[in-house]
Amino acid sequence: MNSLAKYITVASLGLVASATLHAQPNAVVYEGARLILGDESPAIESGAFVVQNGRVTAVGRKGSVKPPSGATHIDLTGKTVMPAMNNVHIHIGYEGYTSWSVNNHTPENVLDHLEREAFYGVGTAMSMGDQPADFAIKFQQDQLAGHFPPATRFFFAAGLAPPGGGPDSLLITGTTPLQAIYEVSSGDEARAAIRKIAALKIQQVKFWVDNRDNSRGGMKKMPPDVYTPLIEEAHKHGMLVHAHATNLQDQKGVVRAGVDVLVHTVANEKIDDELVALLKEKKPYWAPVMGLGDVAEICEDDDQFVEQVLPDSVIADVKAGKTWLPSTPCSAPVNAQREENLKSNFGRMMAAGARIVLSTDAGVSAKYSFGFAEHHEIARYVQFGMSPAQAMVVATSRPTEVLRIKDTGTLAKGKRADFMVLNANPLEDVHNTRKIDSVYLNGVKLDRAALQAKFKRASVPHATR
Ligand SMILES: [Zn+2]
Repeated sequence: MNSLAKYITVASLGLVASATLHAQPNAVVYEGARLILGDESPAIESGAFVVQNGRVTAVGRKGSVKPPSGATHIDLTGKTVMPAMNNVHIHIGYEGYTSWSVNNHTPENVLDHLEREAFYGVGTAMSMGDQPADFAIKFQQDQLAGHFPPATRFFFAAGLAPPGGGPDSLLITGTTPLQAIYEVSSGDEARAAIRKIAALKIQQVKFWVDNRDNSRGGMKKMPPDVYTPLIEEAHKHGMLVHAHATNLQDQKGVVRAGVDVLVHTVANEKIDDELVALLKEKKPYWAPVMGLGDVAEICEDDDQFVEQVLPDSVIADVKAGKTWLPSTPCSAPVNAQREENLKSNFGRMMAAGARIVLSTDAGVSAKYSFGFAEHHEIARYVQFGMSPAQAMVVATSRPTEVLRIKDTGTLAKGKRADFMVLNANPLEDVHNTRKIDSVYLNGVKLDRAALQAKFKRASVPHATR
């Protein structure tokens, strides 16, 4: 299937909102809020910042920031402002909430997912190894050109795996018909694939080391003599390399081979001194992506934070364990061994200096989908020993190092005005990131009520079906 053939122009659907052109021509000064800057520095109590043409032009204490004359003043006394979050690991486009299918993979649906991310305060998100390159490049160009309404900025990484391998048994039903994965079975093939990817100017690659417990007929995992030259060639081309590895031996292998971003947390056993030593030596970024294996929040809470964007039928399906992979009903017991391993391993990896970056795996299950997954994931980091202040860095500025963008991630002069206004202070309780008053991307306030009404409807945003 030619994925570009599916790329009907979104513009013809009237989806091009004038809102994209509404970067504020006049300065706005937001004052009185506690400002979490997104870097390591302490929050500014009673701060002020100025936004002009979508950019932050000044930040400081209220009274010390001089807004330009004629600026509009917005009083945020009692609120907390933090930068929008940034997520280095999602799987976009296939989720349909009432279905999960390659047929859902359209620009409209990718945009819908990015709007869901934005609704929850996410500024950028990167889809990992699951997009056909031509489609993803065109979508990214169109978004950059302002052809879409305000939404989370889209990034993607090219994926490499052994023939028939790679993604889990659900995701592969999307990636195979779209030929989204570069299949490689030798070092030479890996190098050749990397050169093709480099020619497309793609800067991020992901490979999978996983036999999926042989569930797909004795599937082979990518061996070191394939991924070592893969990494070497990718580094020659200046790329950043992410490796999916879920068990201890494979994590050691990919870290030893020099991967830049280690993906997943070992959950079936405790990590050992050898991995800790490797982490200390190599200091990779680490995308823990734990939450997809957790009990669905829908089972626990009744605060509507998750439910507010899902059709009622989908909420019922998640509770019954009827949604797409992995489907665990609310009645299933918590896996206490997994909890213990995660807590132990997370603490040891954090102490070893692995540079944690926000990452969710959203997009393979309705129970853990775009936007709210980020809030769940950072709460887990804090539960396992990270301070809320560190979690703010992990969720905002550090992912931009992996994304290789300098224009967002902190509340600072010159950055895009990508921020969340919160009704409570997440430095006191990380769950307060959920108390969202409003979200601004590029200085534009999202119409969250309109978005929410759209998300609640149980239909995939298709153009032609
Ligand atoms: Zn993933």
